[in-house]
Amino acid sequence: MLFLCAVQFSKVIGHAALKAKLIGNIREGRVPHAQLLVGPRGSGNLPIALAYSQYLLCENRDVVDACGECPSCLQMAKLEHPDLHLAFPIFFTDKVKTCDSFLPDWRKEVLAEPYLDIEHWRERLESENKQLRMGVDIAQEIQRKLSMKSFRGGYKVMLIWMPELMDPAAANKLLKVLEEPEPNTVFLMVSTDAEQLLATILSRAQLTKVPALRPTDLAEALSERFPELSADESMAIALRSEGDLLEAVDMANKGEEELFVFFRDWLRSCFKREVIAAVDFGDGFQKLGRERQKSLVRYGLYLIRQCVLQWQQVPELVRVLGQEQEFVQNFSKLLNERNAEGIRRELETAHVHIERNANPKVLFMDMSYRMMALLRA
Ligand SMILES: [Zn+2]
Repeated sequence: MLFLCAVQFSKVIGHAALKAKLIGNIREGRVPHAQLLVGPRGSGNLPIALAYSQYLLCENRDVVDACGECPSCLQMAKLEHPDLHLAFPIFFTDKVKTCDSFLPDWRKEVLAEPYLDIEHWRERLESENKQLRMGVDIAQEIQRKLSMKSFRGGYKVMLIWMPELMDPAAANKLLKVLEEPEPNTVFLMVSTDAEQLLATILSRAQLTKVPALRPTDLAEALSERFPELSADESMAIALRSEGDLLEAVDMANKGEEELFVFFRDWLRSCFKREVIAAVDFGDGFQKLGRERQKSLVRYGLYLIRQCVLQWQQVPELVRVLGQEQEFVQNFSKLLNERNAEGIRRELETAHVHIERNANPKVLFMDMSYRMMALLRA
């Protein structure tokens, strides 16, 4: 039986055309020295980079994937291939400033969830209030590892996850390595925010954009992971999570109902100007925790966008299911020229403030009062 590794192309959700293009490039010997895969959270830029590495290092690849059985693939299945080097952000202690001692943790996390994001990694490291970064020591570690000969005589891959979190000094050091490439060395940088990268690094790398997942691809993947979901439920979550697998998994795990009910009841209460209830909603919001608070606000934005489309009388563009339909029908009647934009802006601002660690209760109550005024307008 063919063993499918967590990081093989066949395990990467969607992105059929992109995968075919990357495979075609390798088969035709077009392997750029430095590549940058940029994609939003949950899009799969990391699994694609890992599948690319495995394919590149496989000794018996076919036209669609790595073989999954050769010694190279078996090592990749544990992310322990000696020619796959890994660099990622860590938090510094007095003694530890390089990735090596964090490697077992990183491998474990990625094998459990190849769509890993920085927040989950932070949780794993229990480094809630510490900054995750890559310093000069990691750049030196990269340089040292690449100066070694390839173990298997083929390519050496240096996968750098979240290079945007490199200190400027480290990035400059990396730039030197990129400028003087060792033969058969491939840099794969996996980023969610290329704008934070040094322009000079950007200019040295071939850019591959990884778009958010298509709803149909995401819904199919969800049904596989959560067989208890109906096809409609999978599709509803896929649409709400806007192509972010992690968001979708989070919704499926915690129950998609919860966000809807909270958001609907809160807006209802704002409309009725229930000032005392705003305090309760503030408490409820605080209890959700930061990631869930962000999910709620993002979900709210999604729902409001649907209401605006309904209000603008383009209902054919409205994408809602189940009880959301009734909500969109009713709430869109409360929208007008003056408040539609304001409501959207309130939610967007809230998202920014949550990311910046604002006090969630104060923030939410504040937003409630402004929402009351907007809904009166
Ligand atoms: Zn193989």
